[in-house]
Amino acid sequence: MTNTPNLKDLGNQFYTKGDYDKAIELYKQGIQEILDSNKTNEESNNQLSLITSNLSISYYQIKRYQESLETALKSIEYNPKSAKPYLRAGDAYIALSNFKDAKEKYLLCIKNINTNDETAKNLLTQASNSLQNAKMKQFYQPILEGSPSLYNRVEIKYLDGIREKALFAKVPIEKGEIIFSDLPFIHQLSVDSFKLHHNDICSHCIKFIDTAPIKCDNSIGCKYQYCSENCKSDSFIYHSQSCMNNSDSLVSSNHPISKYRAMVENVPTSTQLLLVESLISKISYLLKTKQAKNCNLALGTITHLKRGPLMAQQSSFNGKNLEDLQKQYQPLLSLLEEAYGLKLKEHLDDQLLKNEFKKLFSVDFYDNLLGMINFNSTSTVIKSGKKIQIEVPVVTNNKTTGKGKKSNNNQPKTTTKIIENSCWGVGLFPIFSCMNHSCIPNVEISNEIVDGVTSVRMVVKAKKNIPAGSEILHSYCDETLSNKERKDILFSQYGFKCTCNKCSK
Ligand SMILES: [Zn+2]
Ligand SMILES: [Zn+2]
Ligand SMILES: [Zn+2]
Repeated sequence: MTNTPNLKDLGNQFYTKGDYDKAIELYKQGIQEILDSNKTNEESNNQLSLITSNLSISYYQIKRYQESLETALKSIEYNPKSAKPYLRAGDAYIALSNFKDAKEKYLLCIKNINTNDETAKNLLTQASNSLQNAKMKQFYQPILEGSPSLYNRVEIKYLDGIREKALFAKVPIEKGEIIFSDLPFIHQLSVDSFKLHHNDICSHCIKFIDTAPIKCDNSIGCKYQYCSENCKSDSFIYHSQSCMNNSDSLVSSNHPISKYRAMVENVPTSTQLLLVESLISKISYLLKTKQAKNCNLALGTITHLKRGPLMAQQSSFNGKNLEDLQKQYQPLLSLLEEAYGLKLKEHLDDQLLKNEFKKLFSVDFYDNLLGMINFNSTSTVIKSGKKIQIEVPVVTNNKTTGKGKKSNNNQPKTTTKIIENSCWGVGLFPIFSCMNHSCIPNVEISNEIVDGVTSVRMVVKAKKNIPAGSEILHSYCDETLSNKERKDILFSQYGFKCTCNKCSK
């Protein structure tokens, strides 16, 4: 018997105790001993692979990621059929922010796991979760790192197949501080607010405008106006196609969407339907201008949102059942196809893109978009900071006069009420959507515009002190409701049972 297993086992003992430097020293000695013996058979290679794999994780523990990666790759070289070294390499790649190569290594790990082996189950779960994590990081990291001023206090981690992703505090955060603020992937002013406020707000960021607004280029018939050139150009990607009377666009002045808008008036879901309309507009624009190859790529930012229970699995959607709703949006879908789809197709010689358009205007895709919006969208409210007077009817109990006859002459009396002027919309916010639910949330949400940035956003503030490493949680429903009411809302709208402390009491 050689000394090698002893050196490895001894290394493992120090590893377990957390003395990684000592473990590294022993693993290195063990490796040298095998190499010095000049044996190159399968047995010695397997041993070398095992011990280098342990060396890799020891380096990882003391954050020497480059060395961790190099030793993991060495371990794979010694025994390409072993699963674990791929996991080590994947983890090191993640730590070095190389998510693409991490993904590849996790896939190879899963491929190499011997599923007949009972002990491999844990490894498989670990590798599958790590793979999801790599996919997610590849997508979210550029967003987080792209705007450090917005997101440098948070990180996103993949938890497991049930909870998927979650948002964590990277640093300690004190009560009242802003944790992060999120910009929307897409945002839609509500139908009601548009009617009331189109003259005094920016159609894109819904900020109240004090100065002269910048009008949409097609000012005849189009009520869109902006607070800045930035807002105007940002809105172009979705507005250019839905803008009425836009002779330059692919849409005629007799826009079918205007007909549909009249149809959906007072339908509770109309704002969410309009948000889907904007999304379809945005996707078709990206497809048409060849900025994306397919619908999913064009969806980009939101394809990683939690799907939750899609509409087909839901018993209700804003009080309407699925069939009613499908009936309701079926005409919109054909109108949209007429407006965007057909005319866009004329510009396309590419069969693949034609297929993408078919998909874009299919009930399935539309259901998917609506499900995603229903599950992830958030209402936004922007206050003007100004008080306004509104007339509200006075409710009286005095319904009868004289001989018990109803009076038709009595006009309903009104009274004036002072309220703060505000308008609201619905938006999809990619980082905000990563937050999980708790009935005892540690944050509160507002839409105030900070730092003079003119865009509607979700501003997330700490409701209590949040230690570094804690999950950031907000309430998907009004947390002051009764246990039963919360349970009903969470199950019917989001499809889960809450297990927070408040609910399990
Ligand atoms: Zn604006
Ligand atoms: Zn316009
Ligand atoms: Zn709860």
